[in-house]
This record gives sequence, C-alpha cells and structure tokens, in this order.
Amino acid sequence: MSDGASVAKDPKVIDGKAFAEGLRDKLARQVATLKDKHGFVPGLAVVLVGEDPASKVYVRNKGEQTKASGMASFEHKLPATTSQAELLALIDQLNRDPKVNGILCQLPVPKQIDPQAIIDAIDPAKDVDGFHVVNAGRLATGGPGVDSGGLVPCTPYGCLLLLKDRLGDLAGKHAVVIGRSNIVGKPMALLLLNESCTVTIAHSKTRDLPAEVRRADIVVAAVGRPEMVKGDWIKDGAVVIDVGINRIERDGKGKLVGDVDYASCYPKASAITPVPGGVGPMTIALLLQNTLVAACRQRDVPLPE
Ligand code: NAP
Repeated sequence: MSDGASVAKDPKVIDGKAFAEGLRDKLARQVATLKDKHGFVPGLAVVLVGEDPASKVYVRNKGEQTKASGMASFEHKLPATTSQAELLALIDQLNRDPKVNGILCQLPVPKQIDPQAIIDAIDPAKDVDGFHVVNAGRLATGGPGVDSGGLVPCTPYGCLLLLKDRLGDLAGKHAVVIGRSNIVGKPMALLLLNESCTVTIAHSKTRDLPAEVRRADIVVAAVGRPEMVKGDWIKDGAVVIDVGINRIERDGKGKLVGDVDYASCYPKASAITPVPGGVGPMTIALLLQNTLVAACRQRDVPLPE
C-alpha cells in the first residue's frame, strides 16, 4: 500500500508529478528551439477576476511554470467588482495582441459575469483551456486517431497521456468515466472514444454506479465527492484515474483527497493515480503544451521535435 508521499517508489502508482516534469522539460527545449529558429516565444495570458484564494494559487503556479518553460507570461488581475463589459474588453484586446498566443480566464468568475459569455468571447485559436464551442465541437467530431486541429481541455488530456503511457494502445478497453462536466467528464469520454475505447459516461442519475464501474478496464472519476469510489466497485487489474481534488478535515487536520477511496481501491487496481501527485500536476503541463501548439499554428511554423 502506498500513499501520495511515496508515490515515486511504487510501480503501481502513476506518478503524474514526474510525468508532468518530463513534459515541461521537453516543452522548455521546444520553446528554446522556436526562439533560436524562428525568433519568438509563445505567450500565455492568464486573467484572474477577484480574490478567490484557490484561484490565486492556481494563477500564481501557472505564471511561474509558464516563465520556467521560457514562454512569456502575461498576468491580468482585475478587482472583484469588474463588470462583464470590462472583462470582455480585455479579452478583445488579448485576442488582437500578437504576443499573446493563449488566453485563459480563471474560473469561477464573480456572479455579475456570465462565464459562458467569456468562454464564447475568446478566439478559439487562443482558447488553450479548450472550452470554446468550436474546440469542443472539433473534439466531438474528430475520428479515431485523428488530430482534429482543435485545442483539447487540459485535465482530460493529461489523464489520457497518463493512460497511454501506462497501457499503450487503449483500443477495445471498456472505460467508465464518472462525471459529465464540460471541462472534465465529457471531453475525457470523447478522448477515450477517439482512442477506440468502449465508453460509459456515468453521472448523478446513473442507476447502480458500482455495477457500471465493475465492468471497467479503465475508471476515470471526476465527480467532486471525497473518496466516493470504493474498492469493491473496482474490477481486478483495472486502471484507476482520480481527477478529484477535495479538501476535507480528518483527525482535526486539513487534507486533500480525491474522488476515489485510495486505500480500498489500491489493492484491486493494476495502476492508480494518487491525490495529490497524480492528475493535478498534468493540468498546467498540458496548458503549456496547448500554448506552444497554439503559437506554432498561429505563426504557421512546425511544432519543434
Ligand atoms: P462538476 O462540474 O461538479 O461535475 C461533477 C459531475 O459528477 C457531474 O456530471 C455530476 O453529475 C457527477 N456526479 C455528482 N454526484 C454524483 C454521484 N453521486 N454519482 C455519480 N456522478 C455524480 O465537477 P468537475 O468540474 O467535472 O470536477 C470534478 C472533480 O475534479 C472535482 O473534484 C474537481 O475539483 C476536480 N478537478 C480537478 C482538476 C485537476 O486539475 N486535477 C481539474 C478540474 C476539476 P450530474 O451531471 O448529473 O450533476
């Protein structure tokens, strides 16, 4: 049995932290090549509206990792009283700025702003979160193994890379995705379908969720309910990907746990992501990768090796 603190030593545990570090190193080399050969570096603009503490941490980490990769980071911190019109004006300015190749508006936004209006306003070519309907549509209409030319949401993209690294070809595997949000569950299911998995999407109205999960070779949990998925739901040898990030109190201390009950699922799984140190670190790495891809497409230069 392992926990998040000793993940690197246990081959059963999928070490997303190490995988993400490797990916960021490769991206830094690609950025250096772009600078040498083509005289530009990709730029990522991150917009934060308000003072949400978790969002502030995410935005800081994104800025630091963007700079560490050699890309240009543009941070826009706006007060919580910002109107939708003011935010849309900033998005318009970023859409037209050639130094900005990727735009991300940190969600949630304050209640006077409709998040969908902001997502709709971002140029799809710069939508490095992959939330715009054009990018969602490209993913939905892309066939098996085809690069649809869109930008894919970072968290499910990170999950897919971890799965392919562990399992190789995913064709024919039965995958159960728990959760159908636009940012995780739905794009995850589409990515797995495009890998020729047989995909079940479960949600809050699913009847007999444990029975659905027991059929799965691959389980992806993106629910937002601490430790909901239990060991007796897991088929022997299944691969378990835990997207959940839940802060709970245990023994008087704050603790981060996933949507999977790690202690009971670990013995049944052939591989499992820990929380923290599994899916979480992949998200920013894929954000940087999307920014690099977006920059190369906008400049019409090939992606460096
Ligand atoms: P969300 O928008 O709240 O969606 C949750 C999904 O879970 C919904 O589709 C909901 O079904 C389903 N669900 C809720 N209760 C259920 C139940 N009892 N049985 C089956 N399904 C149930 O959440 P999200 O944004 O997708 O995020 C999911 C989790 O991933 C959260 O813990 C979040 O913090 C985490 N997350 C992590 C990262 C990362 O970087 N690692 C990124 C994004 C999110 P209905 O549609 O029927 O309501």
